[in-house]
Amino acid sequence: MSAPSPRLVVVSNRIGDPRKPAAGGLAVALGNVLASRGGVWFGWSGKVVADGAPGAGKLHYQRAGAVQLVTIDLSEQDFEDYYCGYSNRALWPAFHYRLDLADFAAGYFAGYQRVNRLLARKLATLLQPDDVIWVHDYHLIPLADELRALGCRQRIGFFLHVPLPPPPILAAIPGHEWLMRSFFAYDLVGLQTQADVDHFGRFVQEEAGAVSLGDGVFEALGRQVLARSFPIGIDVEEFRDLAGSEESRQTEAMLRKQYGHRRLLVGVDRLDYSKGLPRRFRAIQDLLENYPENLQSATLIQIASPSRETLSAYTDLRDELEGLAGKINGEFGELDWLPIRYLHRTWARRRLPALYRCSRVALVTPLRDGMNLVAKEYVAMQNEADPGVLVLSRFAGAAEQMREALLVNPYDIPATAQAIQRALRMPLAERRERHAALLRQITEHDVHEWSRNFLDALATVKTRLRAEIQ
Ligand code: ADP
Repeated sequence: MSAPSPRLVVVSNRIGDPRKPAAGGLAVALGNVLASRGGVWFGWSGKVVADGAPGAGKLHYQRAGAVQLVTIDLSEQDFEDYYCGYSNRALWPAFHYRLDLADFAAGYFAGYQRVNRLLARKLATLLQPDDVIWVHDYHLIPLADELRALGCRQRIGFFLHVPLPPPPILAAIPGHEWLMRSFFAYDLVGLQTQADVDHFGRFVQEEAGAVSLGDGVFEALGRQVLARSFPIGIDVEEFRDLAGSEESRQTEAMLRKQYGHRRLLVGVDRLDYSKGLPRRFRAIQDLLENYPENLQSATLIQIASPSRETLSAYTDLRDELEGLAGKINGEFGELDWLPIRYLHRTWARRRLPALYRCSRVALVTPLRDGMNLVAKEYVAMQNEADPGVLVLSRFAGAAEQMREALLVNPYDIPATAQAIQRALRMPLAERRERHAALLRQITEHDVHEWSRNFLDALATVKTRLRAEIQ
């Protein structure tokens, strides 16, 4: 019999409660691994305490079966500097190649360091010597370094859910030397795509004097780190099960009744500038101008969930989209038909499968995206006998795996419109062939495979030089 797996400690900015139905694929997958080997999920509670002191916070404990959920509140100052500031005004835009939108205020950077130190201090008190620690995303890059400074010797892995841009963009981030050095406190760094891994390797060699030891292992500062790609997937079964819900069935019946005689297209995104929504709307305008057979017929249902609304880049985007949708509907719409149905809200997750299933084309056209799970959800929900077509940006991480989608450059609006037209007219045989290949891909490489691969790599990575970290 093999030895039981060590306890797993997952750390992420927000924790998902695996018991809640709205949890989503990632929360379900992490919840499953945590439940099967027992573990701790640690992160911010989502609460901001008005009179809290910066760098301090109260812990809350909850048990969900074999999983201990531990959360911490943040002070207003910490929330502003660490979360809104450095994470979402500096790192998010910079990692999505948008240096023009990045704000590198010194206070943000200090807040980011302060909160990572706070989280490390609190987490260290919960750790056992044999724990395996898995840290998630850009909010927490320096966490392992802070834990190491407190004497933690456990295996620590990190997964970056967003893209890692090429060296010239990374080098523009003030303090990038410190940031990149932080990666060397991990034993394993997981990235979404091979392109991201290449950027990591080039950057650490060019800027941190790291030496490549082959097979993704880099050595610098007396430490070794393995960098590998682990493209995240969805829980295909869990998502398909949602389609059986009453809400999903009702939504499907309503959509078929309302739009059965139209050519329905769908977009589902957080309202974020990385998602390329204004250009997507302009591609619809181009489609109507240049392929008039779509007049009175093609209808894009675009659901955009409110996101980070305290940040001005997001309110500007909202204004721009509302203006564009109004303009296009005003120009092309008729009394009984509008080309764009733009809904600025979060949809119940249980209703999404119906929307995907009723749409002949999905538009997933981000300007830059770590992976993009909507692309995979759309494929999972198609009727195999008469599937819809995925139009996918070549700049989404998903494009590295989903080669049978219609890949587009979202900056090229006429070419995107042309691809949409091709998708709308694609013969059944071609649709089935492309869909079968895509479905195979997302089913074989689902979110469970992703977490298994990451944890196997973390369990077996050589940690020879960890003694020197202390
Ligand atoms: P990101 O993590 O940048 O938001 P992803 O495409 O990787 O982008 O993941 C988004 C997840 O959130 C998907 O599971 C998708 O179904 C869900 N989602 C996105 N927008 C909405 C929305 N407007 N309503 C409901 N769910 C949404």
